[in-house]
Amino acid sequence: MATFKDAFIPDELVSAQEFLWLNPNLGPAEECLAKAELSVADVDDAEARLIRFAPLIAQLFPETAAAQGIIESPVTPLPVFAERALEGAGEAVALIDPANVLLKRDDSLPVSGSVKARGGIYEVLKHAEDLALEAGLLDSLEDDYTKLLSPEARELFSQHIIQVGSTGNLGLSIGIMGSALGFRAIIHMSADAWQWKKDLLRSRGAEVMEYEGDYGAAVAEGRALSDANPASYFVDDETSQALFLGYAVSARRLQRQLEDAGMPIGPDRPLFAYLPCGVGGAPGGIAFGLKQVFGDNVHCFFVEPVQAPCMTLGLASGLHSEICVQDIGLTGSTTADGLAVGRPSAFVGRTIEGLISGCFTVSDESIAALTHHLWDTEGIFIEPSAASSLVFAERVSEFAEYLAKVPNARNACHLAWATGGNMVPDAERASLLE
Ligand SMILES: *Cc1c(COP(=O)(O)O)cnc(C)c1O
Repeated sequence: MATFKDAFIPDELVSAQEFLWLNPNLGPAEECLAKAELSVADVDDAEARLIRFAPLIAQLFPETAAAQGIIESPVTPLPVFAERALEGAGEAVALIDPANVLLKRDDSLPVSGSVKARGGIYEVLKHAEDLALEAGLLDSLEDDYTKLLSPEARELFSQHIIQVGSTGNLGLSIGIMGSALGFRAIIHMSADAWQWKKDLLRSRGAEVMEYEGDYGAAVAEGRALSDANPASYFVDDETSQALFLGYAVSARRLQRQLEDAGMPIGPDRPLFAYLPCGVGGAPGGIAFGLKQVFGDNVHCFFVEPVQAPCMTLGLASGLHSEICVQDIGLTGSTTADGLAVGRPSAFVGRTIEGLISGCFTVSDESIAALTHHLWDTEGIFIEPSAASSLVFAERVSEFAEYLAKVPNARNACHLAWATGGNMVPDAERASLLE
């Protein structure tokens, strides 16, 4: 057992082995949610805001018109993938029905092709609404929000800057949405972030600033520059409640989707959700929303790379953002660029510490193999960060004991959350599938 400031740190984290950390602090959903800073009313508010903006989104992004401006993704079954992946699971395979293995297709979310289209776009819209109400461009929350596409609104937004530090996908969401409304968007990225993401952002009118250090350095620099300018708003991945709430809305929509698919979640059919985790906002917000909707009938697992298991480290040690993966000798770097974060959000860690069932850590080799297996079996390409969500299927034996204690486990839906993919250019896709 390693120690850091007298905290317990699992050996498997230090030695960068794949493992499953089961959360000893998992509690009853109702009790943990009651202690949280955010409530059902906060998620209601976020959901209502996205509905107010839907007519504007439908005009600005025609690909969302069929869904009336609601940015959402489908759920797809993965029968062939599941059958194959579960082959290696030994006796534990009896605990999962391959017909109940599903993929949440956030890789195909409109506008920006990743889970960040939930939180990132939501936060830009909220900021735009605040400014427009203050300036009198909107009379009330019942006003026609397509007014925000008028020359007057563009003129207002053009006087404001939105900045963010990003490994890539958050920058894409903020940059695309911010620029589309007329804001000046400045995205701070580490120099080793994918070139295509920087090129795409610049082509949409966003400014990209690059930093030699890691993602943490880009965030710190961006925050400092933004704080120094009163006309600038900083989207803070580590502390943002708006991002978190934007992600949380997904749970209500998922509930309706599973009902429509004839798979309503309840005591007879529990839900297992597998959520790729970087700084924690996306998986944390989604898990929070899922717990509000499904209570103890949902079991949430995070997935992190063996070299960047920041949330697992923060939760297992109880130190949250007071510890980073470099403190225990890990590099923080991984091909799953959306998950390449060394220090977790303390806000998210504290909010979800009693709600999460556990965390899987996964190697880059396994992530590459999963990306490939999904493509081979189902013809679906998702980015490596997203493919990590599928690892549970190959590692059922590690949580067989947990599964065996869940009533009606064999009926459970197992939902891997595919967090990104459809913006990846063909050439990058081909090399990732090699
Ligand atoms: C950002 C991201 C995640 C993780 O979200 P966090 O809020 O950083 O935890 C997972 N997958 C992809 C593809 C991402 O872009």
